[in-house]
Amino acid sequence: MKIICIGRNYSEHAREMNAEVPKAPVFFMKPETALHKGYEYLLPDFTKDLHYECELVFRIGKPGKSIPKHFAINYVDAFTVGLDLTARDLQSECKKKGLPWEIAKAFDYSAITGTWLDIHAFNPEHDFYLKVNNVLQQKGKAADMIFSLEKIIAYVSKFVTLKIGDLIFTGTPEGVAKINEGDVLEGFYDNKSLFKHVFR
Ligand code: MG
Repeated sequence: MKIICIGRNYSEHAREMNAEVPKAPVFFMKPETALHKGYEYLLPDFTKDLHYECELVFRIGKPGKSIPKHFAINYVDAFTVGLDLTARDLQSECKKKGLPWEIAKAFDYSAITGTWLDIHAFNPEHDFYLKVNNVLQQKGKAADMIFSLEKIIAYVSKFVTLKIGDLIFTGTPEGVAKINEGDVLEGFYDNKSLFKHVFR
């Protein structure tokens, strides 16, 4: 099982990161060991700037290679809201040196997923959002993505075969920021709470 993450898929977030809006999807991967389970999250000691990125996450339900865009949704069986946790200080160092950024993105417990919902309940016009200590910090909807889920699946599967259980994090809207000790992060889709974690 692998985790595929799309970068810069919302134009306002690309702007807040001083990054160009890409012409094709930008993706990177996290290993299976990146998945976090449980309510409490222990902040890692190798970063002073762990950021949340709240994202819609889709789960692959059927294996596929070079999947045509118009069949792509048939390869997805569930979705949820999750966090692509990012060591922003390490990522900045990697970017400056033009190095790969796995230490900033693919470390243990860098991927949080919420309760899975059936893909038939998905509506690209429904909002997902993140509350930090009960205050709204990020809000987005799939309809605002630069590259749709279908385009992402078609593009990624040209290069990487998708297998059952693979996850696709589809990028974050604007509003990313540092997680502080004691913060409680709660993710919602269409006003339903799908995850809640305390960071210590
Ligand atoms: Mg992200």
